[in-house]
Amino acid sequence: MGKRVIGIDIGGTKILGGIVEEDGTLLKVKQVGTQAEKGKDAILANLFRLIDDLIAEGRVDGIGVGSAGRIDHKRGVVVYATDNLPGWTGLPLKGIIEDKYQVAVAVDNDVNAAVLGEMWLGAGRNYRDILMMTIGTGVGGAVVADGKLIRGSSCSAGEIGHMILYPEGKQCNCGRKGCLEQYISGTALYKQYNELSKNLKVNNAWQVFELYKQRDEIAAKVIGDFVRLLSISIMSIKNILDPEVFIIGGGVVESKDLWWDDLKTSLGSDINIMSAELGDKATMFGAVQLVL
Ligand SMILES: [Zn+2]
Repeated sequence: MGKRVIGIDIGGTKILGGIVEEDGTLLKVKQVGTQAEKGKDAILANLFRLIDDLIAEGRVDGIGVGSAGRIDHKRGVVVYATDNLPGWTGLPLKGIIEDKYQVAVAVDNDVNAAVLGEMWLGAGRNYRDILMMTIGTGVGGAVVADGKLIRGSSCSAGEIGHMILYPEGKQCNCGRKGCLEQYISGTALYKQYNELSKNLKVNNAWQVFELYKQRDEIAAKVIGDFVRLLSISIMSIKNILDPEVFIIGGGVVESKDLWWDDLKTSLGSDINIMSAELGDKATMFGAVQLVL
């Protein structure tokens, strides 16, 4: 009988989990709110409730977790997490879950897990040198070279959201200024719209894309800048890592029909880009791979 593993994706808003068979068959999926604002104990309580519900379905051979933050995957400890997950920094997540459930546990960064998921069952299937980029609330990245995840000497390889695009640019939550994340994340897109718009204010990137469809001039400027800066970043990374493919995921990709062709034109034909195929389940599937 093949192994059955629980894969979990811990994000700032929701925790997604599923039971997955060794061949990739998803048996059951479930989601709970993270309730991050209530602090570490509440997040853990929600995580345990999710695992309990999944375990009630039957035999489980291991639990894999992809979490936001910098994760030391060898020790299974959260090295650093932003205030999106309060109290998460320093948490020995692997040990906590192992003690409670007495099964094999593996923990890694959520984007690292996502690229493993895409390599297993999604857009990365046919590639061994991959740069994955997630553009959502923030901007994340993961690097796969010759089939292996590159985690770096302090578990922070692939943090492309903090490449500096403009020295002395916008203040970033990492402490530096001018990071990519401050210009192309979903959060950045709607903030830029509001900076430029005198009258109409928006609350999310989705609204900016809706306005773009209606030929709103400010939205056109914001999306134009987004494509230009994303393209510049991809070209810089191409020169350093020379991946076979850039896989772009995250919430902003849901609107790709509006900008994908422009991005491709800007990049030219020698840079291969693909959109992620597993949507919000990439990290969950990849977390299963961490255990397998
Ligand atoms: Zn930064």
